[in-house]
Amino acid sequence: MKIYRFEHKKEILFGVLREENLHPVSGSIFMKYRVGERSIPISQVALLPPVEPTKIVGVGRNYEAHSRELGNPVPKEPLLFLKPPSAVIGPGGVISYPEISERVDYEGELAVVIRKKAQQLPERADVEEFILGYTCFNDITARDLQAKDVQFTRSKSFDTFASIGPCIATGLDPAGLRIKTFLNGKLRQSSSTRKMLFPVSFLVRFVSRIMTLYPGDVITTGTPEGVGPMVPGDRVDVQIEGIGTLSNTVAAREPRGALPA
Ligand code: MG
Repeated sequence: MKIYRFEHKKEILFGVLREENLHPVSGSIFMKYRVGERSIPISQVALLPPVEPTKIVGVGRNYEAHSRELGNPVPKEPLLFLKPPSAVIGPGGVISYPEISERVDYEGELAVVIRKKAQQLPERADVEEFILGYTCFNDITARDLQAKDVQFTRSKSFDTFASIGPCIATGLDPAGLRIKTFLNGKLRQSSSTRKMLFPVSFLVRFVSRIMTLYPGDVITTGTPEGVGPMVPGDRVDVQIEGIGTLSNTVAAREPRGALPA
């Protein structure tokens, strides 16, 4: 099942897609909900980011070939960082190019959407009940600032640097999904989630023992090899089997304004 969040006639709704129509749901997608009879063609809505997370937990270097392409060691434990909720954009959203960066990269990733509060999950806990579903994520990164800084906060936290969508796909096995990223229609990343060093179940348990995960929180599970820069005017598509395609464009660069004295 694919759950979308969208705006239609000034109303913000969650809806389930059946063929080309969205059926708004009543209740909470995280608890109990009912799929209504009402139907709205998907072409008539404005899609929104499918969740509003309280936090986004990123996982760095979770594919060996990507660690190596940037000359980094392969981690022995998950390497975590946070992206702020203020960075979130959705399908069709426009990525801003920060004034202080000369290199902004796409990173296509599979993201986990949390369904239920997860805290201190034991090592062998079954994580399925804590996961609502999966979505595509573009972990946009100012690579030059990442190289300059000790940690990732600045390089990964600019407004518009967390693209999520287009929907939450439920009932998927996250272990063997094809993941592809296209830049202006050209294939740049192509891998399988099977190649993750730390799989989804491990990551959910690992993160829950550091910070409480709340409904709607997102864990983005790392990018495969093939990352590269985007320039203003580019279009980037992250496509994952069973979920769909998350498309964004990069805005024209704002002229550098005078700094206040
Ligand atoms: Mg990443």
